[in-house]
Amino acid sequence: GQPQAAETATTLPAPAPDGGASALLRVRGVRKAFGEHVVLDDLDLDVHAHQVVVLVGASGSGKSTLLRCVNLLEEVDDGVIEVEGRDVTDPRADADAVRARIGTVFQAYNLFPHLRVLDNVTLALRLVHRTPRADADARALAMLERVGLADKARAFPDQLSGGQQQRVAIARALVSQPALMLLDEVTSALDPELVGEVLDLLGELKDEGTTMLVATHEMAFARHVADEVVFLHEGRVHERGAPEQVLDDPREPRTQEFLRRFR
Ligand code: ADP
Ligand code: MG
Repeated sequence: GQPQAAETATTLPAPAPDGGASALLRVRGVRKAFGEHVVLDDLDLDVHAHQVVVLVGASGSGKSTLLRCVNLLEEVDDGVIEVEGRDVTDPRADADAVRARIGTVFQAYNLFPHLRVLDNVTLALRLVHRTPRADADARALAMLERVGLADKARAFPDQLSGGQQQRVAIARALVSQPALMLLDEVTSALDPELVGEVLDLLGELKDEGTTMLVATHEMAFARHVADEVVFLHEGRVHERGAPEQVLDDPREPRTQEFLRRFR
């Protein structure tokens, strides 16, 4: 009835007038279950070019599963995921071509320990994109320069701090010039004093126009960098909106309860 429609309108803003058609990432009605356990339930999400959308929610709320569905590490049970207007959940979609447009950085253990930093960054360029070595090396060095680690090109990952390793992992994801970056709790495994250098880098990338979907527990980062904060609860979008609304003035009791842990 009327009251319910009004409430939906306040907590879940209507999709863009074009229904998200112009979105770089468009997720509609996505459902994903592991056995009986429904992990994503009728999930809608848009990320437009140059936007940063931050996913927050308790552990187990489905953040990683959503990111893994987007880069085709998991298959959805229902719904549609479009990247640059192409339905990537179509069984005929070329998974490698989709992944080539997406850069992903996980929580930890991103780098190949037996490869030098430079070779970690060039690997996908050379194997997936068939970039000649000299060209790949030049691009990788430029990207390492960008993340402040050009002097570590010859080092092995275990000679770097955790924060430096994550910056290399970000450089590796960016070097293929993806349309969309997916970042899953990239600072969660870091010692507290190393978190800032990684979050600062993400802030700089946002200023340069990088499009990102970020799962994080770093509420200060979400507040300062997100264009939109999406609060997931039990696999559903429970509340979404501008960071100052969702984080500072949440409407939903569950959002309020979740955020109290970070006060
Ligand atoms: P989050 O990243 O928000 O912590 P996840 O997406 O990792 O949440 O997990 C959501 C739920 O899905 C959790 O209950 C988790 O145990 C379950 N889950 C995730 N991956 C699998 C899997 N491969 N098999 C079974 N259950 C899974
Ligand atoms: Mg997770």
